[in-house]
Amino acid sequence: MRIGLFGGTFDPIHRGHLQAASEVKKIFKLDPIYIIPAALPPHKTPASVASADDRLAMIHLAIGDIPGVSVSDVELQRRGPSYTIDTVYHFKSTQSQDAQIFLIVGIDAFLEIDTWKSFQALLEQISVIVMARPDDRRQSVQQGWKQLKEYLIFNISSDFRFSGSQNAFLSAGKQPVYVCDVGALDISSTQIRQAVKHKQTIENWVPAPVAEYIHQKGLYT
Ligand code: ATP
Ligand code: MG
Repeated sequence: MRIGLFGGTFDPIHRGHLQAASEVKKIFKLDPIYIIPAALPPHKTPASVASADDRLAMIHLAIGDIPGVSVSDVELQRRGPSYTIDTVYHFKSTQSQDAQIFLIVGIDAFLEIDTWKSFQALLEQISVIVMARPDDRRQSVQQGWKQLKEYLIFNISSDFRFSGSQNAFLSAGKQPVYVCDVGALDISSTQIRQAVKHKQTIENWVPAPVAEYIHQKGLYT
């Protein structure tokens, strides 16, 4: 069994998340992928975050009955801010022994992983799949991988090397850090919150039931 953990604030979930999840799922043959909204995200100010209940409800609306994609509210059930290391230990202790677990992270988030709690232990514990994502400062996916390599060597471990056969960066004592070009859509939750605030349309960026929920509840206004 190969399981994917896809965490984030999902404030709100959008087509970029869904598209990326479905590509990673296909390429790495993951079943299921759990979408895991964070409680009180340690890296964001609480004021910018919709309530946990609203974010969770929008995820349910967005994934509908897509096969092999589920939601886990494990981080919302815990007290205090969410730390990925705790979530990884949770899944390791509740899934079967032979389950292979992968952490799914966009490159923008991964390039800050040295600020995460126990990040060295985290990378010893779990394989990561880093997804390409468009960024104004990076012209190409390849440039992203180059930046990732430098980041790994500089911030995590100087012995990281790229393995073409595995399509992953490898280091002694660490699990592989796979790279994956998911053909990411240039969509962010930030741009959606801003569009709602300025009364612009968001229908291209989120599934229809999510747009409806945002408008009905008056979120992000
Ligand atoms: P915000 O603008 O509030 O930061 P976001 O769109 O970046 O929102 P997050 O909830 O921060 O969404 O992201 C959760 C995870 O999904 C992160 O690992 C992020 O890199 C990844 N991700 C978000 N949007 C995309 C996208 N369009 N393509 C690929 N990965 C994405
Ligand atoms: Mg983000």
